[in-house]
Amino acid sequence: MFSQAESPGVEPSPTRVHVLGAGPVGLVTAALLQSNHRFAVHLYEKRRDYTRTRMVQLAPYLVADTVASYCTDYIDGESVEAIFEPSELAEGLAFRGSIPPDLMGLLRGWTRGFCPLNDIERSLSDLIDGRRGRRVERTMAIVTAEQAASMLQPGDVLIDCTGTRSLLRDRLAPGDADANTFTLRLEYALVVTFLYGQAYDCNEYCKYSKNIENAYYKFIPAVNRTCYDGRITHVTGIVNISAADYERMPPRFDGAWLRENFPQVAQSMDRFIASVKAETGGEIIGDLEIVRIPLDLYRARHATSLELRRRTAGDEPLARTPVFLVGDSAMGSPYFQSISLGFECAMFLSGLLAQRDLPVGDVLERYERFAYQQWLRVYMRTKMIKHNKDLFECVGDTFAMLEKLHIY
Ligand SMILES: Cc1cc2nc3c(=O)[nH]c(=O)nc-3n(C[C@H](O)[C@H](O)[C@H](O)COP(=O)(O)OP(=O)(O)OC[C@H]3O[C@@H](n4cnc5c(N)ncnc54)[C@H](O)[C@@H]3O)c2cc1C
Repeated sequence: MFSQAESPGVEPSPTRVHVLGAGPVGLVTAALLQSNHRFAVHLYEKRRDYTRTRMVQLAPYLVADTVASYCTDYIDGESVEAIFEPSELAEGLAFRGSIPPDLMGLLRGWTRGFCPLNDIERSLSDLIDGRRGRRVERTMAIVTAEQAASMLQPGDVLIDCTGTRSLLRDRLAPGDADANTFTLRLEYALVVTFLYGQAYDCNEYCKYSKNIENAYYKFIPAVNRTCYDGRITHVTGIVNISAADYERMPPRFDGAWLRENFPQVAQSMDRFIASVKAETGGEIIGDLEIVRIPLDLYRARHATSLELRRRTAGDEPLARTPVFLVGDSAMGSPYFQSISLGFECAMFLSGLLAQRDLPVGDVLERYERFAYQQWLRVYMRTKMIKHNKDLFECVGDTFAMLEKLHIY
């Protein structure tokens, strides 16, 4: 359905796929589609360079080759089995098996350890540009929704990977400005990162014992978020803050600013770090890097142009074209899960588009279903993490803890 008019013995011209946004998810989407000769991929990005240095890690399920290894996550292994049919899991694994070795090699590396986000972006970008065979055409520009709509020709596919402030999300459902976005604000947080000159590993006991003297502003490193590269450990964690604190802070700052303006948070960090030092005898390298962010869990109610198609009878360009939201433009979750979720959706979509006999309506419906399943999965996982985190914050205060335990 996605190929242009086909005649026997004549190779159909490739389907033009416009990928908006070359962040990690847009790049992976482009790299996956590039390896199929049936697609001519055009990638649009407004940034000149990849400068985001924050350390990220990808979930091992991305490179799973069996259903058992796909479901090993101790928080959501069961949910995955409850949400997806066995045949759906098998289909996803089969697609992984067809991912080209160059890309799979990168994914394997990123699921083993930590990596700066811009390393992921640069490696994917270099892989796309360095491949022999079909080129991905690239345009460096800020694309507007009107431009996106006007460049579409019959048979094209449009994939929006423009991130949290998605270019097209709220245009896929006629109505109010944000009619297509459902958002839950979970909390406000500081994401604090520092480098430590010794091996330091974190588990649940460590999170507890190193925060014992911190009644408020507990620093909670994510398990698997510490990474020792043979020389230094990269530590990233979250401190819960109030909405009022959030308003008084700049988007990013260092330890000196924190000390001067929020001494209580700084003292809490100091106590945590002093405890790590007492245990491992190392030193902090450099300063703390701090970002303040609202932790939102959100999704596009419609992750494709299917609804628009139904409601407007195809009389506007976005309704006539299969449009898909992938990555943060489709849904977002805190607690370090989003890139993996975006990659998972990119893999599924690439597998769908490659099925040449599938009618467009089916492709749209199947992607909607998949996006909803991924939403259920990440919603449950995130709520569980938040609940555990809330309980953790009041360990030692029996009544505060009981308040949070709604058993029946
Ligand atoms: C402090 C912090 C730590 C994090 N740690 C992790 C982690 O450990 N693991 C994890 O999985 N996630 C983590 N995340 C989330 C992760 O960074 C995002 O989920 C991820 O970057 C989303 O990728 P994306 O490609 O969907 O969107 P983005 O990374 O937002 O990329 C969108 C791209 O589209 C481009 N763009 C946007 N609009 C236009 C336009 N109109 N025209 C042209 N180009 C456009 C942008 O320039 C950008 O390059 C973290 C986030 C924060 C803030």
